[in-house]
Formats: sequence, C-alpha cells, structure tokens
Amino acid sequence: MKAAVFRTAKQSLHIEEVPKPRLAPGQLFLKVRACGVCRTDLHILEGDLPPRKNALIPGHQIVGTVEIGATSDLPVGTRVGVSWMGGVDGDCPYCRRGLENLCDSPVFTGYTVDGGYAEYVAARSDFVYSLPPEIDDLHAAPLLCAGIIGFRSLRVAGVEPGDRVGLFGFGASAHLVIAVLRSWNCEVYVSTRGASHRKLADSLGAKWVGSETDKPPVELDRAITFAPSGDVVIAALSSLRKGGVVAINAIHLDRMPEFDYDRLLWGERQIRSVANMTRSDARDFLRIAADIKLQPKVTVFSLDQANDALSAVKKDALDGAAVILP
Ligand SMILES: [Zn+2]
Ligand SMILES: [Zn+2]
Repeated sequence: MKAAVFRTAKQSLHIEEVPKPRLAPGQLFLKVRACGVCRTDLHILEGDLPPRKNALIPGHQIVGTVEIGATSDLPVGTRVGVSWMGGVDGDCPYCRRGLENLCDSPVFTGYTVDGGYAEYVAARSDFVYSLPPEIDDLHAAPLLCAGIIGFRSLRVAGVEPGDRVGLFGFGASAHLVIAVLRSWNCEVYVSTRGASHRKLADSLGAKWVGSETDKPPVELDRAITFAPSGDVVIAALSSLRKGGVVAINAIHLDRMPEFDYDRLLWGERQIRSVANMTRSDARDFLRIAADIKLQPKVTVFSLDQANDALSAVKKDALDGAAVILP
C-alpha cells in the first residue's frame, strides 16, 4: 500500500510502498477514507516528542471503513473514526480510577503505532467510534483529535453555560471549540495572530476578537490556549478573574516563563494541562458535533502532498483544518 513514512532524524515524510498492516487479535483492518493533520504530527517530525517507533506512519484523525476483523457491533463496511488514543492497558492505577487518558501504558495512534497517512490502517476495535451519518468523511476527520481534545479542554477548564471563555490561538481545534461554546451560550473572546484567523473567529460568533498581544476587554471565567507557547499561557492567565482556570491544549510548550505569583496565580486561579482524551470524551463530543451540525473548515491534500499539509499547519497558513485523502 502507499503510505507517508517518517524516519527519525529526517524532518519530512517519504511517500512509498509499504506492506499492508498485519492484524493483531482485537484489531480491525480499516480502509482509510480520510486522515486529519494535527500539530502533534509536526511535533513528532521535529523531535519535540521523543521518537517511539522507527519508520512511522503518522496520522491520528482517521476516518475508515471496516474491511477485516468485523465484530457484531462493527460489521464490514461500518464507517468509524480512530483518534490519538489507540489503546490503554485497562489495569494501571489511572485506568482503574477511570482516568484512561493518563494510562501508564498507552498506545498512541500515529506515534507508538502506525497511523492513517496511508491507504490502510489497523486499529483496536474497542478504540474506534461509529461516526454520525450527518458528517461526511472530510468533515469528520478534524473532529477526531482537534475536536475531541478541544472538547476535553472545555471539561478540564470547567466551562459552564454562559461563561466568558477566552480562546488564545485560533487554529483547527479552536475553530471547532467555538461552535460548542456558542451552543452553550458562552461569550467567546479570541486572541490570535493572523488577520484571516481573526476574520474566521468573528464569522463564527466570537464576541470580541483581538491580536495575540491584545488583552480581552473583560475578565475571563475560563481560558484555553492552543499555541505551543508559554508566553500565551501567561497572557491567558493574566486575563482571568479570581478562581478562573487556564487549560493548555498543547502536547508541547516551548518553555514556561517566570511569572508573578502574587498578581497572576493568587486568588485560586489555576493552570491545567490537557492530556490526551478518554473514550467518553470522544463519544460525547461526536454526539454534540452531530447535534449542532458542526461543520469544520477544511483544506484537502493528497497523500503525495502530506509534507505540504504539515508545512501549512506549521506556518499557520490554513483557516481550519488540513485533511489528507489517500
Ligand atoms: Zn492504564
Ligand atoms: Zn492530535
């Protein structure tokens, strides 16, 4: 099959013919219909995340159809989604507490095992999600990490209906999160670089939109940061009311700057990271996405153009999400 393969120490993908995946027990063999591009893919290629597998096929926002390994719940031909969390051990202290996103022995799709920048992929049958028929392949793919983990960020930040919520950065994840927030009648304040991102935020119902150096005009109840930048976290923190929460939706930050505790964190403000996702985050979010008819903005690339897709994400050159069609 054709796949985009990453070898350690190169910073780009090589499009080549590789053997089709071999199935382990409990796995499904899926024909890939679409695969979203995530900033995490870039962090893997650039070495911000340590290499975990040689000759890796990245990609963890996969829409596929079941071809082999079908179960009674997932018969041949079922359209399913695969996300970043490709499996857990089920019996570590975190799994036993219901915190499978923090599992000690996780499988990460497109990082510890091969992902969806390919014509076919293997995935654990207990870690795939039936996709709502309302959402087509192209528009389902970005929901599977950008959407689900964006949704988890809202949970980690403790967003309540009607809250004033700041979004710092406005890429693939934030442009999905804003739709959920609007459906909860939240007031959304967006700080982002890039005139086209600001325009998009405005068109999606933000109450206020500013550049990355502008401070929202009100104190925020909650803030979510999306950029891999510690400075952005501090900007978000400095916009919070007492008792407010910043949730960091980033798997990697450049650094965490020193900041003034008395002025910024005192008053029971909190900074929290958002790590991975649980299967219930995925199911709950996909249901909401179907209910609110969430329609991501997407730019399509072919598998041959996988490197172009990644460089567009790196440069923040796209509005919304990049999706690869094999
Ligand atoms: Zn575990
Ligand atoms: Zn991701």
